[in-house]
Amino acid sequence: LRANDLKGGEVAKAMESALAPRITALKNRRMIPTLAIVRVGENPGDVYYQRSAARRCEALGITVEVFAFSESIAEEQLANEILNLNMDERIHGVLILRPLPGHIDDRAICKALDPKKDVDGVTDRSLAGIIKNEPQGFAPCTARACIEILKHFKIEIAGKNIVVIGRSLVVGKPLSLMLTALDATVTVCHTKTKDLPAIARGADILVAAAGRSRMITKEYVREDAVVIDVGINTDENGKLSGDVDYNGVCDAVSAITPVPGGVGTVTTAVLAAQVVEAAERS
Ligand code: NAP
Repeated sequence: LRANDLKGGEVAKAMESALAPRITALKNRRMIPTLAIVRVGENPGDVYYQRSAARRCEALGITVEVFAFSESIAEEQLANEILNLNMDERIHGVLILRPLPGHIDDRAICKALDPKKDVDGVTDRSLAGIIKNEPQGFAPCTARACIEILKHFKIEIAGKNIVVIGRSLVVGKPLSLMLTALDATVTVCHTKTKDLPAIARGADILVAAAGRSRMITKEYVREDAVVIDVGINTDENGKLSGDVDYNGVCDAVSAITPVPGGVGTVTTAVLAAQVVEAAERS
């Protein structure tokens, strides 16, 4: 038995087709949905994400402006740049590439952003919306991407046992709350979790968002499990790898997202959707 590949490209394409008429409608109102990407330093991962997000957005007719700052920018100066973007009427959404350098307080920068432009769900208002399950702000793009994949492939969420490995504010924590709101029974695991393989094996749907190259091996999965691999890592040979040992696991589960070509691909489509949504709300 070989697992079904849950291809991100297919999900992204469907989402982008649904966006096209909305972008046309905005343009008819003389609005061009515009995303500002804020990058500090030259981290290759950030540069790669910026380029691929810009390419996908621009192909859809969303304008992307990159605001790149030196690694040594002071926190106060960066906060001021965010305040300027808040006031810039041309900009509908702002994506801040993180983590920021160590001398900058990440939360302070996120707090400076106008929640209306918070297309990656980093402000307190967006996070509160997720906790309260109220439509305010936006979800973090990666967390929503996982849900879009499950929905696209008609994988039932309600009533399922879902194990999320990782509790970061970007992925694990918001995703576990979003899945709970969709009536899943969610177990959140982290570095202090005891006997993780046994807990993971109890999952109907296993989400790996630990940032540990290929840590999820066959002993973590059940035969009928669906596996969502959020990880984007580099392995010991410098090659891109997920959190799941794809080759070791793909024969043992019912469906799995590949890396690359899985969650990451859908994340940029979600970003585009949230920029369009922000423009529509403005
Ligand atoms: P993070 O902030 O480093 O958080 C990792 C989480 O995983 C933490 O909660 C950590 O537990 C837990 N963890 C780490 N090692 C573990 C282990 N051996 N066993 C159990 N739990 C473990 O990372 P992140 O920002 O959430 O990102 C996670 C992964 O997703 C990374 O590979 C990242 O590159 C990728 N990512 C992908 C996308 C995309 O678009 N596909 C977007 C964002 C991130 P503690 O809390 O106990 O430390």
